[in-house]
Amino acid sequence: MTAAAATGPARPAPPKLNPVRVPISEEPIDTRTTDFREVLHAYSKDDAILEAKRCIQCRRPWCVEACPITQDCREYIRLVADGDFDGAARVTLRENPLATCLCKVCYHYCEDSCVVKKKGLPIAIRHLKRAALDYGQSDLVYIPSKPKSQRVAVIGAGPAGLMMAWELGVRGYSVTVFEQERRYGGLMQTIPAYRMTDADVETDRGRFRDLDVKFVDGTKVGREFPIDRLVKDDGYQAVFISIGTSSHRTLGVPGESLPGVLPALDFLKNVNQGIPVTVGKEIIVIGGGDVAMDSVRTALRESHGGRVTLVYRRSRQEMPADPEEVHGAESEGIRFVFLKAPLQIVGNGHAEGLRVQTMELGPPDAGGRRSPVPVPGSEETISCDTVIVAVGQKADLAGFGPELDLKLTAQGWPEGKKKGFETAVPGIFAAGGRSVVYAMGSSMEAADAIDAYLSAKRGEPASPRPDPFGGTEKFHLPPGYTAPIRE
Ligand SMILES: Cc1cc2nc3c(=O)[nH]c(=O)nc-3n(C[C@H](O)[C@H](O)[C@H](O)COP(=O)(O)OP(=O)(O)OC[C@H]3O[C@@H](n4cnc5c(N)ncnc54)[C@H](O)[C@@H]3O)c2cc1C
Ligand code: SF4
Ligand code: SF4
Repeated sequence: MTAAAATGPARPAPPKLNPVRVPISEEPIDTRTTDFREVLHAYSKDDAILEAKRCIQCRRPWCVEACPITQDCREYIRLVADGDFDGAARVTLRENPLATCLCKVCYHYCEDSCVVKKKGLPIAIRHLKRAALDYGQSDLVYIPSKPKSQRVAVIGAGPAGLMMAWELGVRGYSVTVFEQERRYGGLMQTIPAYRMTDADVETDRGRFRDLDVKFVDGTKVGREFPIDRLVKDDGYQAVFISIGTSSHRTLGVPGESLPGVLPALDFLKNVNQGIPVTVGKEIIVIGGGDVAMDSVRTALRESHGGRVTLVYRRSRQEMPADPEEVHGAESEGIRFVFLKAPLQIVGNGHAEGLRVQTMELGPPDAGGRRSPVPVPGSEETISCDTVIVAVGQKADLAGFGPELDLKLTAQGWPEGKKKGFETAVPGIFAAGGRSVVYAMGSSMEAADAIDAYLSAKRGEPASPRPDPFGGTEKFHLPPGYTAPIRE
């Protein structure tokens, strides 16, 4: 018996992986830290094509399975590699109504699952999304399918709320989005302008203009009127709560109300909106997540030559911040102080120092991260004139009562407990999430449930999302897709 007969017919050799990514250029450190100019530069057309050609077009699209909104990135990469940027832009926008924002700030879960990562740097999937929109025709407008005589209220215009408005708008529902702020985008409003701007949110929202979606700003539902008014008096047949985590958490240590102590969310939002903020020359930011990274880098730019220190109570390995953001902060000269927990903010009428205690890492907690344990007698004071507190956010649930029986996720997002994120009140759904694309993914699931709920009321079967550009195709998973990868 020959070797071939023993092992079956010879398989084609697997395609060769090219582990070297086409570099993404960055603004030089000395020019970028004096203002809010964009840090990461776009690929040129030729570089985008070169990078896209590294993709081996896996038969099973690992990248798509890892994307919370199942964006068919494999397909837009194929089109970019062929130089068809118009086609790539259309594929991108077909599943992703916030693509202009996500091509700049998505945490690119797709890249973590890309097979090329086994040998080197994964395909720059997020950056290629940007190339598709920059060089292809991206000023497309979404088209609603046949109008349905049913209205839905969405509370909160963050990524979850905007995704819901799009999902239901393209299905022909009439949607009203209530937002307590004067601007749209939710927590994306706090992302610094060197990463993305308000204009990016407006570019995405502009493509909604032909959908039956109304935006009502400056209206805090639950405080200004009770949520059940929407159903009982205002004629909405379903409600989606996407209120996110708009309030900041506090440290709970003495001195937190001293002048010179700023909650990170307010600080970042004010800087973005051009509202004057006062920071000194010795700034401490407390926290280890992405909000802390945005705060240190924004404080550096606002301080005009000041010194910025990040204080975190665990070690570098436990920091939840995105490595890309940590790299950005480090290369801009931010000082990192690990294993110090804040005890008190000291000062005589103004913040003058942060009293901290050294920590050691103990056994892992329920989430698997090693818990910090105080070292007795290790207190010290780090001098400063400004303290920015970036230790997390929480939902403001005023007006959202126990009848909804909401669940709070580990990161504090309110969700309905039933299938499709329905709450204990039939027809009222609630979701959102810990990143822009996760929030959108949760909305995608809730939109199917709301469509099923409203279709049943009409006595019709629910149907998949239609082609948002008015074609006859319905949403379908790409060939080879097996199951979502959600880590
Ligand atoms: C500084 C910072 C940087 C971040 N960077 C990134 C990043 O780079 N990439 C990424 O993917 N994610 C990032 N995130 C996380 C991301 O912004 C959130 O995960 C996402 O915005 C959550 O979307 P959401 O729609 O669930 O909630 P939110 O964005 O919180 O939106 C909720 C909206 O509801 C409104 N609202 C609340 N209560 C009411 C009410 N009663 N009536 C009416 N309106 C109400 C709020 O004003 C808000 O507009 C960042 C977050 C912060 C704070
Ligand atoms: S939306 Fe984010 S996770 Fe999805 S394909 Fe784009 S970059 Fe990747
Ligand atoms: S996993 Fe990577 S190589 Fe495979 S199709 Fe996706 S982007 Fe291309």
